[in-house]
Amino acid sequence: MNVISKTIQSVPSSLNIQLEENRPLAPLTSIKVGGPADYFATVQTVDQLLKLARWARSVDLPYLILGGGSNVLISDSGVRGLVIQNRCRQVRVDDPPCCDYPQDLRPFLFAESGAAMAGLARTSINAGLTGLEWAVSVPGTVGGAVINNAGAHGGEVKDNLWNVLILDENDEVQELEPEQLHYVYRSSSLKRGQRIDAGFGAVVLSANFRLGPGDPEGMRARADGFLAHRRRTQPVEPSLGSTFKNPPGDYAGRLIDAAGLRGHRIGGIEISETHANFFINPGGVGSGSAADVVEMIETVQAIVRDRFGVDLEPEIQWVGDWKNQR
Ligand SMILES: Cc1cc2nc3c(=O)[nH]c(=O)nc-3n(C[C@H](O)[C@H](O)[C@H](O)COP(=O)(O)OP(=O)(O)OC[C@H]3O[C@@H](n4cnc5c(N)ncnc54)[C@H](O)[C@@H]3O)c2cc1C
Repeated sequence: MNVISKTIQSVPSSLNIQLEENRPLAPLTSIKVGGPADYFATVQTVDQLLKLARWARSVDLPYLILGGGSNVLISDSGVRGLVIQNRCRQVRVDDPPCCDYPQDLRPFLFAESGAAMAGLARTSINAGLTGLEWAVSVPGTVGGAVINNAGAHGGEVKDNLWNVLILDENDEVQELEPEQLHYVYRSSSLKRGQRIDAGFGAVVLSANFRLGPGDPEGMRARADGFLAHRRRTQPVEPSLGSTFKNPPGDYAGRLIDAAGLRGHRIGGIEISETHANFFINPGGVGSGSAADVVEMIETVQAIVRDRFGVDLEPEIQWVGDWKNQR
């Protein structure tokens, strides 16, 4: 038996987790590109997530948590190490954890990190709790949103986050408050960088949001308005959402459009006709590649820099083995 099989067989059987080898990741991302994971497992409970990450650390196997795959451009060579697909989806309305919690913000919304952010927003609306309506149209999980400080329609995660439970880099389980996460636009201190490979980083286990009482009908109307706006202004084809951050005082989509690039195609990847900051993969899995996306990003950056003197900075994260990118 080789070293790798021995490593895999050392996953504690009590975890009830099946490790797969060479698992294609493209279907698990919203843009449907990227190569395979050397090893892959799906976790359904926070206990499994915590123990699997600790086991991977103990056998020196780098790991990467995959939430909804809606902000990651995975290399065509895939990920060297273990990809942990996070399906820990419990959500509940809780009592506050301490007596000095402000009375006007009493209710708490607890979510495991693999819960869908949009589903959490719906739960809060149904419970008459206001503050997360903006998230009804944002793909991905609570874990991804906490790390990226996801936001839309004037709201963002940091506005309503009370605390986060993480497995930190020293193998301790810790509760952190938003101030400790150093939130800025679409980032936090939990984000490991714009280009990352599998490693031994912190794992978000769950989060508590603080929300105020609201009028369900008004909230529902606001949420429906946000969704209708999305449907009007954003493409339905596979994508990673906005490719670039908006430069100060302008919009990346406007600049790309003004450069005449709307509809431009490289391989299977196209600049959306509906929103020029969205790069779409209309053919789905097996059509566009990560190489096509990178070439498109570099082409757009060069043309926009040349035409308008603006440097467009990617919002998406490069993930996996880019050294051996095909
Ligand atoms: C059509 C479309 C529209 C979008 N619109 C918006 C928008 O309006 N606003 C916005 O902010 N974003 C938007 N996005 C981007 C995306 O939805 C967010 O960035 C989202 O928060 C990513 O969550 P995820 O679960 O998909 O993360 P993933 O893409 O799976 O992962 C992102 C990063 O977080 C890490 N990660 C995920 N979960 C954990 C965890 N539990 N512990 C440790 N690390 C973790 C991953 O390893 C990776 O590094 C859009 C994307 C699409 C496709």
